[in-house]
Parts: sequence; C-alpha cells; structure tokens
Amino acid sequence: MQLPPDPLDLEEFRRNGHALVDWVADYLAGLASRPVIEPVAPGEVRAKLGERAPEHPEPFDEVLADLDRVVVPGLAHWQHPGWFAFFPAQTSPPAVLGELAAAGIGVQGMLWSTSPAATEIESHVLDWLVDLMGVPQSWKSTGPGGGVLQAGASTATHTAMVVAREQCRQRTGAPAEKMVAYTSNQAHSSLQKGATMAGLGHIRLLDVDSEFAARPAALAEAVAADRRAGLEPAFVGSNIGTTGTAAVDPLRPLGEIARAEQMWHHVDAAYGGSAMVCDEFRSCHDGLELADSYTFNPHKWLATNLECSVMWVADRGPLISTLSVTPPYLRNPASESGQVIDYRDWHAPLGRPFRALKLWFVLRGFGAEGLRRMIRNHVGWARALAERVDDHPRLERIAPVHFALVSFAHCDGNAATDALAAAVNADGRFYVTASEIDGRRFVRISVGSTWTTEHDVDALWNLVAACA
Ligand SMILES: *Cc1c(COP(=O)(O)O)cnc(C)c1O
Repeated sequence: MQLPPDPLDLEEFRRNGHALVDWVADYLAGLASRPVIEPVAPGEVRAKLGERAPEHPEPFDEVLADLDRVVVPGLAHWQHPGWFAFFPAQTSPPAVLGELAAAGIGVQGMLWSTSPAATEIESHVLDWLVDLMGVPQSWKSTGPGGGVLQAGASTATHTAMVVAREQCRQRTGAPAEKMVAYTSNQAHSSLQKGATMAGLGHIRLLDVDSEFAARPAALAEAVAADRRAGLEPAFVGSNIGTTGTAAVDPLRPLGEIARAEQMWHHVDAAYGGSAMVCDEFRSCHDGLELADSYTFNPHKWLATNLECSVMWVADRGPLISTLSVTPPYLRNPASESGQVIDYRDWHAPLGRPFRALKLWFVLRGFGAEGLRRMIRNHVGWARALAERVDDHPRLERIAPVHFALVSFAHCDGNAATDALAAAVNADGRFYVTASEIDGRRFVRISVGSTWTTEHDVDALWNLVAACA
C-alpha cells in the first residue's frame, strides 16, 4: 500500500519543487500559443473546485495537474508577449526565484533584530537604486532619507498622506477635515483613495495642460482659494507617468509651490520611475530635490513580480515619528541602540515579507545594463509604433510618448475607437486597453511585457492598421 503524501517530507518537496519550476518554465514558454485572455464565464473556475477542503493529503501531482485544468484556463496572461494592456506587471526568472527563496526562508522582518539580513539587504538594494536612478543622494539610508519596500504605490502614497497630515497638524493644529490635498486630474485613483484613508478633508483634482501635465498656476490658484476659505493646504501629489497617458508633471514649479506653502510633496512615479535607470529620461526628475517622498513600482516595469513598490523619503524623521508605536514586546537592544532600521516603523503593516530578495536577484540577474536594455527596447518600439500611428490617415495620437505608452484615437470618433480596440482584442493574440479623457475615447498600447519582442509589436501594428 502506498503511504499518503507527507507535506513536510523534504525529499518530496525537492521533487515537487523541481516539477513546479519545470511547470512555470513550460507555462511561460507556451504563452505565445494561447489567447492572451482565456475565455471564461463568471463561476466557471469555482465550479471545477471541490465542495469542501480536502480531508486527506493529496499527492502533489494532482495539485500540479490542476494548475493546467483549473488555473490556466481562468487566467488573463499578464506575462503573455501580446500583453499591451494597462501597464505591465512584469516578472522575470530571477524575480520568481527570489520569491521562492524568500518564501522558503520565511522570515518576518518587522525589526532589524527579527532578521538582520532582510533589513540590511533592503536598505542596501534601495541605496543601489538611488545611484541607478539618479535620485538625490540624501535619500540613501546613510543620509537623512531612506527607502522602504511596500506592497504597492497606492500604499506608499497613502502612507505619505498620513505623514503629511501629521506634519500639517503639528505645524498648524488644524483638524484633518480642514486639510487639502492637490494633484492633477490625471492622477491615479490611489491619490483619492489615499486621501480618504488618511482622512484628509478635501482633494482638488487640478486642470492639466494640452499634454495632460499638471499646471503649476492651477495649483497656486487652488491653494490661494482654499486659504481664503480657511482651509489648510497639506499635500501635493506630482506624477511621473499618469495612468491615462503617462503624462509627466513639472516637478520643480510644483515642488516650489509646495515648499513655499509648507505642503508635503509626494511624487507618484509608479510607472515612469523604472525608466530612470536610463539617464536620458532624467529630465523628468528636475526639481526632485524639492520632493518629500517618491514611489515607483519595480512590480510594474522593472522585471520584479508583485508586490514590490519602492518608497523613498527625503527625511525619514517625520515618517518614523508618525508611525512608530512601541509596545513592550517589540523593544530590543538593537532598536534602542539607534543603529538599526526597523522597517515596521516605515509603513502600516507590522509583519513584512522579505521583498528585497527578489529585487536583489533581479538587479544581479539582469545587471543595470540588462534593465536599461529592456527599458530602451520597450521605449524604442513604442516610439516606432507612435510614428506609424502618426502616418496613418485614420488614427490620431492624443498624447506624447514619454515612456512606452502610445495613446491614440480613431478619427471617426468614439464608436470607431472602441470598435478598433474591440477588434484588436477579439483577435486573441494581443490585449490592449481603451480609456477616456474629457469624453474622448482612446486606445492605450502599453509596451512592457518582459517577453514582448519587436516582432510582437510589428504584428500588433499590422492588426491595428488592418482594423482601423
Ligand atoms: C499602477 C499605478 C499606481 C498603483 O500602483 P499599485 O502598486 O498597484 O498600488 C499608482 N499610480 C500610478 C501612476 C500607477 O500607474
């Protein structure tokens, strides 16, 4: 009689792990021959699952087989080379292996002392990124600032808003209901959600210019009006790569207003930040020394799987003093020595996974040159695509291509634009998103899957041109 599987048997784990890595490699290698979006109706996935949780251990072979039977037919394949929707959510083999290692090591790095390597590698890798991206040197953990990995840019922005609120409260004594946050009307929804979660009384979504960038004059006017109304301006959110069209706000004039008005200046570079590994994009960073916090997502466009979002602060003091609460069971000599970073004081959760490991694996696995090459490829292919859009008689580009997002409309209007996106997606080999600004529908082609090649972009263009 065969023994039941033992979930703690390490020899079985070894065998199963090898089989799973083979499965992942086969999955990724086989994506191009699948539709980007699997056709699946609501409830179809659950209908394949057992009524109750299994009473007895199941062999791993059966679990693995269900990845093919249950999971894959229910997926939108974000890693597909034909994925041009939203923004990318990249992974890469080094990142997957880093995640596996982190899961296996299984530390909870809330304090330096609960796993020194988790904290020190995180600080060190984020200091590396300061140099790689050309952000201010003072943001290194060796200076007044520092970086922390959070679950997402939304969480980082929310955290920044809470710190802004406490800074404003200390300075003015105003209640949060009187405080105002400002950002462009193209900012990500996380700014609005963050303001709600932080309890800020008001958020102003400012008018933008013809390229969808925030207008400093609109900020100055809104702040003056709010002051006249007895409100307390507290927070400015600038964007490097808005979600709609990847617009870039002018950081310097926005930062100057923020500074003059004693507001916190946060930069949401969730998408655009990754491009800063290449110095030709760094003009976007002009004025960055006036920012108080900055977030960008390696889990979008730097080959690292979710969740991995960098947050830097120019001065870690206000962040830590806002979030630090120390019950007796968290006190320890290392923390009290003041010589270590305890990342639990840098964000809302206490418990934290070893996120830095996958980022470390990625930076080592690609090298800076590998990451730059990837970004430059994507941007180059997007620009070539934009030229083809510009040359097409029935298509019109609606925004500049700052990074690797091409936004365009059909000249015959909204219905034709939606029909074009629908026709492209119906083909099955590609997936693009349609969106809308000021009542105008447009198609977004976001080049950025780890596995996309120039050939895929050409094939997508041929389909777009045929459908337009
Ligand atoms: C994707 C995105 C976000 C949200 O990032 P999460 O990591 O998913 O929270 C915020 N801002 C911008 C501009 C984005 O593109």
